[in-house]
Amino acid sequence: MALIVQKYGGTSVGSIERIKNVAERVAKFKTLGHHVVVVLSAMSGETNRLLALAKEMQALPDPRELDVLISTGEQVTIALLAMALKALGIQAKSYTGSQVRIVTDSAYTKARILAIDEERIRSDLDAGKVVVVAGFQGIDEYGNITTLGRGGSDTTGVALAAALKADECQIYTDVDGVYTTDPRIVPEARRLQTITFEEMLEMASLGSKVLQLRSVEFAGKYKVKLRVLSSFQETGEGTLITFEEENTMEQAIISGIAFNRDEAKITVLSVPDTPGIAYRILGPVADSNIDVDMIIQNIGANNTTDFTFTVHRNEYHRAIELLRDLQPKLGAREITGDDKIAKVSIVGVGMRSHVGIASTMFKTLADEGINILMISTSEIKISVVINEKYLELAVRVLHKAFNLENAASI
Ligand code: ASP
Ligand code: MG
Repeated sequence: MALIVQKYGGTSVGSIERIKNVAERVAKFKTLGHHVVVVLSAMSGETNRLLALAKEMQALPDPRELDVLISTGEQVTIALLAMALKALGIQAKSYTGSQVRIVTDSAYTKARILAIDEERIRSDLDAGKVVVVAGFQGIDEYGNITTLGRGGSDTTGVALAAALKADECQIYTDVDGVYTTDPRIVPEARRLQTITFEEMLEMASLGSKVLQLRSVEFAGKYKVKLRVLSSFQETGEGTLITFEEENTMEQAIISGIAFNRDEAKITVLSVPDTPGIAYRILGPVADSNIDVDMIIQNIGANNTTDFTFTVHRNEYHRAIELLRDLQPKLGAREITGDDKIAKVSIVGVGMRSHVGIASTMFKTLADEGINILMISTSEIKISVVINEKYLELAVRVLHKAFNLENAASI
């Protein structure tokens, strides 16, 4: 007998029919003798619908009230699933985040989980019940409802699995696992049987939308055994996120290609090359809560230097206006930018022990005439920024160059 946490995403609970299907899958695990905790998202589209309603009331909706509103989607699905389970003769009980007491900080719309009171869940499980918990939400120490950021139900699932020391956390979604890249761009993309936690972390932060980044961080911190599976297939192993690198000959050098279209770059031209200049440019950007991703500072010439960095495309206009206001103070000649860029990254722990990966990547792009605008690397990834219009081509040729359609890579 095992304790399993199963999280189902919005499409998996998108209709009455689908919720009934989820109930049947849960019932199957229960009948096998397992303890099951289910975490649900809202029905697909529901969170967006609620956000749109809020915007009709207030251009910038009050964050506290926004969380009261957008946390309701999950309350609907948990009650419906508990009913569906009861209709199948399975004992079940639903809880909102605040009923469980999933305690978070007070950062509305992007709160972090601080603690989970798992007593009630445990006693329900011991009494033979399936426990159904609303994802994406919690309560702060003052009793305010909070939400965990878009895609936050993944994090609820993983956090509950960690708190309950579950044997496995299964994330059911509309794809049957983690792929080498998005199959909509590369039809030959292959499902990975396993991916290391480190690689998954990179993939999630680089734009793969399969798991919320925070849920992967959580899984890493608490060593939660995490598996991504399809809720639309009867069987299938999905993709297991592992903590150890398999030292087999077959270990691929590159595990996947992630990409992100949500980027924009900003260049501050010709600022005095003096100590503190990076801080004077990026300090105010950080103070305005704008996340900076890649940063490049050119070699100075004639006591001046250029500074380029990337931000989320949604923050591009805000960042550029901020810097144009600061331009006289910085002594910059010009502030320019481009919001039609994209980032493509190759990810793989095998990079640690192989040379020549970067040059293969650069040659592959060069052979297609794709110009690289920026480069950044870590131990297990290489990212390039390119013109957005070459994104799909770049992903396709890289997938081929690293032979990702075949199980054993180059
Ligand atoms: N319903 C929330 C969202 O759409 C949370 C989730 O689905 O994970 O972002
Ligand atoms: Mg999701």
